[in-house]
Amino acid sequence: MKYISTRGNHEKTDAAEVIRTGMVPVGGLFVPEAYPEFSEREIKAMAAKTYQEIAVLVMEKFLTDYSRDELERATALAYSEENFPADEPVPLAKLGDHTFLLELWHGPTAAFKDMALQLMPHLLTGAIKKIDLDREIVILVATSGDTGKAALEGFKDIPGIKIIVFYPAQGVSNIQERQMITTGGANTYVVAVNGNFDDCQTAVKSVFADRDFNMLLNQKSYQFSSANSINWGRLLPQIIYYFAAYTNLLRNEEIEYGEKVNIVVPTGNFGNILAAYYAYKMGLPVNKFICASNENKVLADFFNTGIYDIKREFKRTISPSMDILISSNFERLLFDMSGCDGRKIKKWYEEDLKEKGSFELDSETYKRIKELFTGDYALEDELYQEISDIYADYNYLLDPHTAVGVNVYRKYYEKTADNTRTIIASTASPYKFPEAVLKAIDKNADKYDEYEMIRRINQITGLEIHRALKDLEKKEIRHMNRCEAGQIREEIMALLKI
Ligand SMILES: *Cc1c(COP(=O)(O)O)cnc(C)c1O
Repeated sequence: MKYISTRGNHEKTDAAEVIRTGMVPVGGLFVPEAYPEFSEREIKAMAAKTYQEIAVLVMEKFLTDYSRDELERATALAYSEENFPADEPVPLAKLGDHTFLLELWHGPTAAFKDMALQLMPHLLTGAIKKIDLDREIVILVATSGDTGKAALEGFKDIPGIKIIVFYPAQGVSNIQERQMITTGGANTYVVAVNGNFDDCQTAVKSVFADRDFNMLLNQKSYQFSSANSINWGRLLPQIIYYFAAYTNLLRNEEIEYGEKVNIVVPTGNFGNILAAYYAYKMGLPVNKFICASNENKVLADFFNTGIYDIKREFKRTISPSMDILISSNFERLLFDMSGCDGRKIKKWYEEDLKEKGSFELDSETYKRIKELFTGDYALEDELYQEISDIYADYNYLLDPHTAVGVNVYRKYYEKTADNTRTIIASTASPYKFPEAVLKAIDKNADKYDEYEMIRRINQITGLEIHRALKDLEKKEIRHMNRCEAGQIREEIMALLKI
């Protein structure tokens, strides 16, 4: 299997190189040149397989330069019982008679990013071996929250790789900061950057783009790399759980073989929902994809108009991991839906979006997308209400991101009365966002600090506290680095001792 660029500006490339580089150097994203399909018989047979076995079946179709043995070892390490102690890595919770929540947050950091970031580091070490790179990889991450901790846990103690995470000193919650600075491992580094997320991200981007600095690092036997959500090595692992969910429904006789399902995904960068679409291309029977946005509703507006318009005010919401105006992975869907027309993508992204802050699809591409996708959004007040209602009706506690999905699905159902069995991606444990969750179920929430809120939610609901959030304030602080955005190169050199 070879990979091509969404903007038609790169030669065909092997998976190992695609995973090592992350994105096409001159702009554009790598996509596989084809999507191998599973036969009916193969999908049926998955119902009797473990999560790890399904993972290998999906990955070997795309990672043809990896051996089966490598993939088996990688999935065994990533989806071990230690990392995912629940009965299965991604349990399904039933809500009402036709709705199922796919709980993607049983990994080490309580958010769905673990599903990919526990596996991707093993794919990257495999890639380094294949390319015969004799330098140590240094992963640089700028994070506003969830990704940093999930990347730290994924890359912790992986041989041949160091990871440095930069977060805005004024831009993450106490709990998020505490999660990161208590990370163990001999190859992990965490740095608070004075400023907001933009300052932090701009600083890290400038390091990637700095040729002299990269050359200096190369001379010292280091090579920068990233763990962005646009890396194919992060998307691929996300295809797996949609097959696992479907076969779980088959096994439990909630659906019959071949029956179509709806898939609802609370969306930011469009990675998680794109992975569901790729599963569909591989043969998963899907009726509709429902793309759920918070008040940063660029995508919801797109699905309703065919116009992608980022000229608008950025809003801070209680689902911060979806506070995104530019959904990087969306380009991959447009590429596919436009008949793999790199020239169109280039025009939309490199001319229209750059010059006008928006682009409009041709009617044919838009029509093709509308046949399969719908999009809507949830307001902040609706989310508190949704969390409170679902708790009252089903004794089930939603985190605010998942609540976006549930609320948008509610609106879809009210409009269409579509009774198709529906899988909603549940992207975080409610304990990861205790303030919003407690406010939704307890009038006196304001009295407590964040750590007390976690205990209070536990008192009220009896729901076990996710291990990632338990006794956080008692854990040893292991990282106390801090720097100015302009000093980031010096900080990297000091940490790498060069
Ligand atoms: C990252 C994240 C999302 C958004 O996922 P995308 O792949 O960027 O669409 C949703 N919910 C949570 C909890 C997240 O961490």
